[in-house]
Amino acid sequence: MTRVLYGGKTVTADVWRSALLAQRPELDLVMPGDGHDPGSVDIVLYEPSGPIQNMAPYSGVAAIQSLWAGVETLLRNESLPTGPPLLRMVEDGLTLGMTEYVVGHTYRAHLGVAAQQKDQAQGIWGAWNPPLAQNRRVGVVGLGALGRDAAETLSRLRFDVSGWSRTPKEIGGVRCLFGEDGFRTLLTDSEILILLAPLTPETENLIDGAALAAMPEGAHLINAARGPLIDEDALISALDTGHIATATLDVMCTEPLPPEHRFWTHPNVLVTPHIASVTRPETAAVTIIEQIERFESGKPFLHTVERERGY
Ligand code: NAP
Repeated sequence: MTRVLYGGKTVTADVWRSALLAQRPELDLVMPGDGHDPGSVDIVLYEPSGPIQNMAPYSGVAAIQSLWAGVETLLRNESLPTGPPLLRMVEDGLTLGMTEYVVGHTYRAHLGVAAQQKDQAQGIWGAWNPPLAQNRRVGVVGLGALGRDAAETLSRLRFDVSGWSRTPKEIGGVRCLFGEDGFRTLLTDSEILILLAPLTPETENLIDGAALAAMPEGAHLINAARGPLIDEDALISALDTGHIATATLDVMCTEPLPPEHRFWTHPNVLVTPHIASVTRPETAAVTIIEQIERFESGKPFLHTVERERGY
């Protein structure tokens, strides 16, 4: 029988145990504190903040399943064995939660909520009507598990949506762009730009001073991906001049955000503490059991990470 080692945070161990056993009551599940021979484990469930930091003893496992969608921390773990496939977390709860965050904050930017709050604080009765969503150009950077659902949902809400990915895509209702030219078009077009790409050597500092300057005057930025996708100093400059009207930042270069960081007090920044979405054990267990069943029936795993690509 397939043996699964739970290597997630200890505080959430009971919730994960219940969720996994609800999907498969007979699962051979090794929990933190259970003595085990690493050589007997088939699949490791890994979380960077979990108890397993030394991955070397697990070089013989069939797969390492990340409990997070982002795998850059796992890839930086020097003890990570080179053999086993790495699996990203793709699951409905994580995707739906991210789409809710993105939709909510897109509407907030679209409706000018921050500007209205500022007017209210000064007692200003400022008459201003936003355009209709169909006339609001929204761009999504990354069209993977999360970006695609967000882009499709925004399109169903009648926003004028473009998306950008590394490889070409076809998504109904979404203008799909790729490559360097596609990135320029996305930047110059997007009044609201949403970041949902992984952190890789190619995406680090993707939104630098030049990228921000290419965006329309008064554009809004929403980062629900990873902090280092943005050059934070360049963003603060663009916010100071008003070229970027607002930034909604769920992720930062340093987390938790240091107390002295400008983002905390900048009038045009909303900081959310890396809560845009989260892996939900009840729904994630469905994905994990599917991966186990694929292993047992000799089918290829889903959502495998290409290590050289970084995601
Ligand atoms: P995914 O399925 O791997 O999709 C990644 C997307 O980004 C793909 O469309 C990919 O293009 C595109 N991409 C990657 N490198 C690119 C490049 N150099 N140029 C253009 N496009 C590029 O990942 P996901 O599951 O959607 O998750 C995205 C990220 O969200 C995660 O890596 C994680 O960092 C972040 N996240 C944040 C939170 C939070 O709470 N803030 C929660 C979950 C995840 P191709 O399709 O062409 O490969």
